[in-house]
Amino acid sequence: MDTMNALVWKGDGALSLERRPVPTLQGPRDAIVRVTRSTICTSDLHIRNGAVPRARPGVVLGHEFVGVVEAVGNGISNLRPGDRVAACCESFCGDCWFCRRGYVNNCVHGGWELGCRIDGCQAEYVRVPFADTGLTPIPDALSDEDALFVGDILASGYWGAELCAFQPGDTAVVLGLGPVGLCAAECAALARIARERGLNVWAYTGYTYERLLAGEVPDALALLEQVDVLVDGEFVEALRDISLRFRGSSNQRLLDVPASLAAGRPIPWEG
Ligand SMILES: [Zn+2]
Ligand SMILES: [Zn+2]
Repeated sequence: MDTMNALVWKGDGALSLERRPVPTLQGPRDAIVRVTRSTICTSDLHIRNGAVPRARPGVVLGHEFVGVVEAVGNGISNLRPGDRVAACCESFCGDCWFCRRGYVNNCVHGGWELGCRIDGCQAEYVRVPFADTGLTPIPDALSDEDALFVGDILASGYWGAELCAFQPGDTAVVLGLGPVGLCAAECAALARIARERGLNVWAYTGYTYERLLAGEVPDALALLEQVDVLVDGEFVEALRDISLRFRGSSNQRLLDVPASLAAGRPIPWEG
């Protein structure tokens, strides 16, 4: 049997580089993809640290990648071997109650599967279920590297910026400049809210809910006072409440919040 290199989570904080069998098609909507680029995500660290109860010890980590289709199941008509593709971090059927409403991360047949419950992409090959919905051909004009972040990191930043529903004159604050925070700041500046319409984008590194709440960021209050879209000092209380409610959420959730409060709308929380 052909084998490949794969990074495996062994449980109890342990990772190991192992030889694993090259995956094979298991269902009509599967594809086998040869991985050319993959990312490391904070979520991988969450798994390593035991913070993801649904993760299965022994799983190959990794849920964002680009590669070349090697084989497709007989239910796949939109992909062919040889296609360069970018993968969505979520596996979704496209047809259940949640998928039909766009909440594909809640797909009753999928969700966060790759690199969590089934073998992921920090390996030479990966089996992708629901490949017809989860894989997107990469246009010739884009390199693999160009397309790498669309499956998770860029999509998360874009989604956060999109949820803010910015209006001219708004100020966006991005707390935490990891890869998702950087993409959120870029998208806030670029997406449908051109700078000439008056949007200001502020981005700060090193701020997390926990550090803010613990008072570990000395100038946090000064930072919060600069948030001019928020009224009457409500931001600090709102941030505290929201942080407690959404503890463990990622940066873009915070990015949602100021614009929503400023506009007097409810928080666009779908979880
Ligand atoms: Zn991720
Ligand atoms: Zn579904």
